[in-house]
Amino acid sequence: MLDNTVIRFDRLDARYLPGDMVTGDVIMHTVEPISARFLKISWHGEASVDFSKNTRKIYLSNYKMVWQSKNGVNQFPAGDHCFRFSFRIPADCPPNHCGYYGKIDYWIAVEMDRPWRRNLEGFKTFYVSKQTDLTSIDKSFLCPARFKNHRLSGTIFVDGGFTVQVIMSKRLFHLGETIRATVKIHNNTDKPIVSLKSDLVKQSHYHAMPNHQLCPMSTSQSCPLKAKHRRDEEEVLNSGEHAIHVAPFHTKHLDMKLTPHSALTPSFESDLVSIGYLWCFTVKSASLTGKELQCNARIVVVSEKKKTTTKKYTWDATIPPPPYSPRNDQI
Ligand SMILES: [Zn+2]
Repeated sequence: MLDNTVIRFDRLDARYLPGDMVTGDVIMHTVEPISARFLKISWHGEASVDFSKNTRKIYLSNYKMVWQSKNGVNQFPAGDHCFRFSFRIPADCPPNHCGYYGKIDYWIAVEMDRPWRRNLEGFKTFYVSKQTDLTSIDKSFLCPARFKNHRLSGTIFVDGGFTVQVIMSKRLFHLGETIRATVKIHNNTDKPIVSLKSDLVKQSHYHAMPNHQLCPMSTSQSCPLKAKHRRDEEEVLNSGEHAIHVAPFHTKHLDMKLTPHSALTPSFESDLVSIGYLWCFTVKSASLTGKELQCNARIVVVSEKKKTTTKKYTWDATIPPPPYSPRNDQI
């Protein structure tokens, strides 16, 4: 590792959108000269999946030589050094993701090449979110929606049934926005309903190789790949269980709300990884059999309404950012 070296982004939270400029400095302090041939700052972004095969897709990759030895002297001088870096995030970069079957990472690396010795390296991660094009979202996510599930309670002696309805005024939410729903529980049994559990579930869908047909998690379309070339994963992000009491043969309305972490990955789809969210409600009856019933609502999470971070550099939103090209990346 490179000692006494700091990679510093101008944007302190190191969070960016496709099209943004990433700027910052590599600051080094060396006590004595180091035998070296060059010092390189590079930036990289890639998606990788690892199950039926190991596949990588590079979204961003370039570098800048910030120092090279002259005349074969090979001496990186002692003292304080500050090297500037600057590059633009291509338009097609998906958000960061870390899952069991795959991940999407972005990082800056500093490498000092030393003759006959192991290179000195340092790196720092930065984060890419997603600016969702709201016109591309299924309009039903902006409209009121109702989900319903019903089950009979009891097996041998059926003692009635209970129904759960999830009612939402919309299902599209910006990062940082509170998600709301009304849960209507109709208990037509002779036992009370005693608990309501709420889970925000992140669903990840993976392809073993880039596939031209994307699999948005907000639709019910089936994956075109064979089972061995796809994987699905679920992670519960926010979970809470509430003691309630819905008396036999009564109905109750409960207002539920949830504010997910602002660093949540927005819903997105790409040719290797897609991400979506479910808000799941589970009610439990005091009956000895047929106790649980689940009702789920699919939601879409999009980028913040307004960016709160301070930007030194902005990208004119009227100009579409360029896609990644290894030849025209900016230094
Ligand atoms: Zn798929």
